[in-house]
Amino acid sequence: MLIDKLRLLDELAAEIKVCPKCRLAETRTQAVPGEGSPTARIMFVGEGPGEKEDLSGRPFIGAAGQFLNSLLAKAEIDRKDVFIANVVKCRPPGNRDPLADEIEACNDYLMAQIAIIEPKIICPLGSPSLRTLLGPDLKISKVRCKVFRKNGILYIPLYHPAAALHRQELQTTLLQDIMVLKELINRDILEEEITDLTPRIGVECAPEKAPEAVQPEAIKAEPVKPAESQTLSLF
Ligand code: SF4
Repeated sequence: MLIDKLRLLDELAAEIKVCPKCRLAETRTQAVPGEGSPTARIMFVGEGPGEKEDLSGRPFIGAAGQFLNSLLAKAEIDRKDVFIANVVKCRPPGNRDPLADEIEACNDYLMAQIAIIEPKIICPLGSPSLRTLLGPDLKISKVRCKVFRKNGILYIPLYHPAAALHRQELQTTLLQDIMVLKELINRDILEEEITDLTPRIGVECAPEKAPEAVQPEAIKAEPVKPAESQTLSLF
């Protein structure tokens, strides 16, 4: 199983490294597929590679990555036991935010990594990753450290380490949240601790057509029961 996951991740990384699917391919030095344990129980997902990552081909090796390492060490989580990836695998020029079509073009790679690794918890790091994975209206300051489920996958959003580097007051918060993550990774998460964001797909059927007007001579017939409105739910 470990060998299979390794092989699949390696094959995916090889594909990402030569991917031409969006304009970021034209400006990247190297794509940054992600790295870590193929059987990781925690997967961190950032927004996109920065300059150092673009040059090295490795995720989270700049100042934010070093800070994340120090927080993981304080929580006694080994970086080698987690998997770290990004929403887009190539650096947006000038560290601009990735555009919607770039995120969409790259999404299959992230979904494939999640499907291969099957982590217990995915941590979107910062707002862009949070919005990509869980919904465009969510605010990281409101939902950080809460447990969400979407399409059967558990998520705990966290502040991005780069944000905590720039805003000192977030550093303690991020460390506390990673401590909570450590606790949750080692125990069963109760149903009441989870907010389910899985979209519900329901189709409201139009009420049945009203019966034809009944002729007076047919009044002796059985009364027609009113049609019940129906909901076809796929869940
Ligand atoms: S960002 Fe993703 S989709 Fe775009 S070129 Fe890089 S790997 Fe391909």
